[in-house]
Amino acid sequence: MVIDTHAHLTSDLMLPHLSEVLQRAMDAGVEKIVNICTDVKSLQEGIALEKTCPWVYTTAATTPHDVETEGEGFFPVVERAALEQRLVALGETGLDYFYKHSDKRVQQQFLSRYFSLAKKAKLPLVFHCREAFGDLFSMADEQYKALPALLHCFTGSLQEAKEVLDRGWLISLSGILTFKKSENLREVAKYVPLESLVIETDSPYLAPQSQRGKSNEPAFVIEIAKTLASIKGINLDEVARVTTDNAKRFFSFSKQE
Ligand SMILES: [Zn+2]
Repeated sequence: MVIDTHAHLTSDLMLPHLSEVLQRAMDAGVEKIVNICTDVKSLQEGIALEKTCPWVYTTAATTPHDVETEGEGFFPVVERAALEQRLVALGETGLDYFYKHSDKRVQQQFLSRYFSLAKKAKLPLVFHCREAFGDLFSMADEQYKALPALLHCFTGSLQEAKEVLDRGWLISLSGILTFKKSENLREVAKYVPLESLVIETDSPYLAPQSQRGKSNEPAFVIEIAKTLASIKGINLDEVARVTTDNAKRFFSFSKQE
């Protein structure tokens, strides 16, 4: 059994097909799904979904892309859900200097606010980081020292991976690991100890190699697990067992069980 640690199940793109998607995930051996909610509507739907699907868990935050337009309105809603212990983590939050859909300074302000909220609510953080590792590390070292975090959809360098590990954080590998051109990422995956890795789909985005062009869904997390097993030269069961244990240690699943 595996855990998909990052899927946008209650985003507008996935909601219409959700029951089939969840059935296929179950059939494929997905034990839990962490549903990443990035706005008021997806969070409301996410909290409702948990009632009928107790194996789906909720996180919330505005992505770094949208903080300029939606960050202010969503923050108090996330805060309330966090303090009412409805969430298993806060995120995805972080910095994205590649797309820069929102101003850098606004991204940094919201990252700081999520650091504070994570400490107050005692929740781990799910980071999104692209071309901004220097700032993410220095801000976290000042404001979020020695606290739990996970780098979602990691595509950084080996050096950046080492700095993530130095901070005791987890690295999450997505379908990008399976792409033909991802030699560097496969080198990183080979280097990082299995005890520091989790797997995710980032559904509905980033379908793995054999499904490219399709809408991604949690059932496809198995392909990422298989790729990781072949990179590490170990069997699929070991990848499934260890990454599942890692996710269970990281997310506050027990609060809701
Ligand atoms: Zn995401």
